[in-house]
Amino acid sequence: MNTPETTGVPAQDLTGDWPPADLEAAGAEVLRLIRRHFERIDQVPVSTGADAATLRDLLDAPLPQEPEPFQRILRDTEERVIPHLTHWNHPNFFAYFATNAAAPGILAELLTAALNVNAMLWKSSPAASALEQVVLRWLAQLCGYEVDADGVLVNGASLATFYALAAAREAAGLDIRQRGMTGRTLPVLRVYATEHAHSSIDKAVIALGLGLDNLVKIPGDEEFRVRVDLLEEAVRADVERGYRPLAVVAVAGTTSTGAVDPLDDVAAVCRRYGMWLHLDAAYGGFYNLVPSVRREVGTFEAADSIVVNPHKTLFTPLEATVLYCRRRGALVNAFSLVPEYLRTNREDGTVDYMDFSLQLGRQFRALKLWWIIRSFGVQGLRARMETQIALARSLAQRVDAHPDFQRVGRSPYPLVCFRAVPADWRGGAGTPAGAAAAAGAASGTAGAAVAAPVAAADVDALNRLNAALLERINASRERFLSHTVVDGLYTLRVSVGNLRTGQRHIDALWQAVAEALPAARRDAGL
Ligand SMILES: *Cc1c(COP(=O)(O)O)cnc(C)c1O
Repeated sequence: MNTPETTGVPAQDLTGDWPPADLEAAGAEVLRLIRRHFERIDQVPVSTGADAATLRDLLDAPLPQEPEPFQRILRDTEERVIPHLTHWNHPNFFAYFATNAAAPGILAELLTAALNVNAMLWKSSPAASALEQVVLRWLAQLCGYEVDADGVLVNGASLATFYALAAAREAAGLDIRQRGMTGRTLPVLRVYATEHAHSSIDKAVIALGLGLDNLVKIPGDEEFRVRVDLLEEAVRADVERGYRPLAVVAVAGTTSTGAVDPLDDVAAVCRRYGMWLHLDAAYGGFYNLVPSVRREVGTFEAADSIVVNPHKTLFTPLEATVLYCRRRGALVNAFSLVPEYLRTNREDGTVDYMDFSLQLGRQFRALKLWWIIRSFGVQGLRARMETQIALARSLAQRVDAHPDFQRVGRSPYPLVCFRAVPADWRGGAGTPAGAAAAAGAASGTAGAAVAAPVAAADVDALNRLNAALLERINASRERFLSHTVVDGLYTLRVSVGNLRTGQRHIDALWQAVAEALPAARRDAGL
């Protein structure tokens, strides 16, 4: 029955699963593929040039009726799928927030799937819940949060923020959980966040029925941190109008520039007005493991709830997000459907993690975190983060030293934002005069203290130039960057977060950026 192609998998057996020995044989092939992938990853393009029609031609096929040999499936995966991914594990992946799957996490995912336990209840898989308790306490220490806080592993920061704000809404004492928000008179509930906060905050207020109109975006300062004076002003004005300030979302590591809101000052405002403080540390949280970062940023204990993403900065394969809430019971009050009098989990040390979120069936996420933290140790985790921060700093220095580029913002994390502002555009009259001054003032990086009036044409020229620059760099498919727009100005972002990224990748990146500038000017017709 076995053709030479089948790895011993009985292709015609229509019942049951593969025999364990066949699983092992096929698994060895998969591991060999993974090994090849990582051995060559430096030499393959980081992204694909294939368009949707090409991918459809490559991948679309009639629904398979007959069993197929696994080797053929694996070969198709290697030849048709993997080359057309954007490789987040590539050393030249610098886009968004660069993330990684480290080896112990990859292997843990395999075992997790093999065990396939459901971590919804303690009883449904005791050691899975017990291990979740252990890693939650470890992760709290890593980022600097209360070790005994309520916590839960969820599948993304966006969901976690929704859960936290749901807990805040329930803690406001309006019994929305039971009575709902319609057909009765409720105060207008207000949520505040910096204008640089993540779109997941907007989605949370949509889903919670608070309404986008009641998400108050507070302007940032010249380094894109929330203006606490303006925050307090907005809250005070709302109170005078009879609104109810519900929560503030502060950010440690804004999406655009990696800025950190002044947490202590925000916490003080929250205390004064009885607001819930949720901290979105999805990106920045674990860098608190680096002493110099922790000195600058502080710990996060002042926050009522906090979200941090191991799948961003702790080398963990997607998906793994941690949500903590130091107001014990608040998450459960929002989401548990077990009446209070039946709640025994705290007393005997057990916990039913289904009570902390909307999710019932839950992956055994704790295992991959347990393997990664133990495999690297705190020292190994810290050393890797320090390397990333040093690499980012070396890039920032190059940007600062180049006459045609300006750095934008400042972050304690390994994120470097910059834009091209050619030296020959600065200070003179004529097209794009004034753009440089405006860019400098807007981003707080160059000397200009007051924003020069900038003609729309100048902003447009600057933006076209930088968009063309990014296009050029990414078109090579040798490296992959992303962009943001801050204060109306197109800005390139380099997120250094990959375990394989070294100084030579940073050196080559900067050389490519600088060399692409003249061509980008031509592309943009400037
Ligand atoms: C990445 C990120 C998010 C969203 O995280 P997901 O896990 O992708 O949902 C939210 N906030 C910030 C600050 C982030 O960096």
